[in-house]
Amino acid sequence: MNIENELKELTCTIANPGLNEDGSYSRLPFSEEYFLSVQITADILEKEDLDVHIDTVGNVIGTLKGTNPERGKIMIGSHLDSVKEGGLYDGALGVASAIMCIKLLKENNIKLKHDLLISGLQAEEGSPLGGTFGSRSMMGLISIDEEYEKVLRSYGITKDDIEKAKIDTGDIKGYMELHIEQGKILETGNISIGIVTGIVGISRYMITIKGECNHAGTTPMRMRKDALICAAKVLTFIDDQAKGRKDNLVATVARMEILPSAIAVIPGEVQMLLEVRDMEKASIDAFMEKVKGFCDQLEGFDIDIRIIIEKPSVYCDTDFGDAIREACDIEDLTYTAIQSGAGHDGNAFGSKMPIGMIFVPSVNGLSHCKEEYTKWEDAEKGVRALYRTLLLLDEKIF
Ligand SMILES: [Zn+2]
Repeated sequence: MNIENELKELTCTIANPGLNEDGSYSRLPFSEEYFLSVQITADILEKEDLDVHIDTVGNVIGTLKGTNPERGKIMIGSHLDSVKEGGLYDGALGVASAIMCIKLLKENNIKLKHDLLISGLQAEEGSPLGGTFGSRSMMGLISIDEEYEKVLRSYGITKDDIEKAKIDTGDIKGYMELHIEQGKILETGNISIGIVTGIVGISRYMITIKGECNHAGTTPMRMRKDALICAAKVLTFIDDQAKGRKDNLVATVARMEILPSAIAVIPGEVQMLLEVRDMEKASIDAFMEKVKGFCDQLEGFDIDIRIIIEKPSVYCDTDFGDAIREACDIEDLTYTAIQSGAGHDGNAFGSKMPIGMIFVPSVNGLSHCKEEYTKWEDAEKGVRALYRTLLLLDEKIF
């Protein structure tokens, strides 16, 4: 079997329902395009003799029976939804790669000891439902208040659907996913495989800077308390501090509101949304202490920093990491340890079971746009690494 060709065809087939005229893909959570993609995936899995189940929130899960089912199950897969006008590879390549493993098992006449679950997951990308919705539903991690119930209803989902989507994780020995890197580390280093060490935690803060609103014509420069100028200093401090670090912490201000935002009025208040990502919560906290310290010494301004979202980081399992490394050695593939700056379904699965992730290079690091591209020869290497890792895990884990 020509893995490269087969993989390309599979990925395109699965992703196809979302194909737009400009070459981008849109399979938004719970959209018609998404469910078409689910149906196509289910049909392919059925053709490969898997028991296929589409759950109450729209995840598709196929089961390939193992020879020693008492050993438990191993799950591999990715998500089938995409962002609006995203690329071909994000999610779809991971599902296609998981299916390729089934084809390779068949071709090589190998029967796994474990049951193998292939998952195509719903609503991994950000939406009003919250990211990784499908995997969080499976793991029973969705908490529902009145407000959220309204959101669910707008998607045609009930509390009961969420309850029924929950699976028993007792006998699942771990989750593996192949995904595009969505960054430039592998490409720049000319490395085939990224062995993901973990998925970073995300903390978001609302920084409110209060100065003094006044007439922009009659207030002399020395008498101003311009909140926007103060915000510029805070923003520059954040960027300088983050750039000066030797670790992988990243900090971004991506939204800013200037009040009153009127011509001829000195800005009296600025609200900015700061996001900090790192594997270690302690590093994020220490970073924010520095930001607070800087803000405290800015005279004449009232600055408030409030945390609004905190998502913990998830470490990949070291045994899974070792298996991927061994797989790369067997397949003669170059690799490096890498952390994921983006969230994945592993965030949800990682709270209940060991996880492992394989990254393949993204050309120019581009993702979530139609320019997203991974060379098929690189994707093929990823499939070989995933397949080999699966065989090793099947031997090693009980
Ligand atoms: Zn993705």
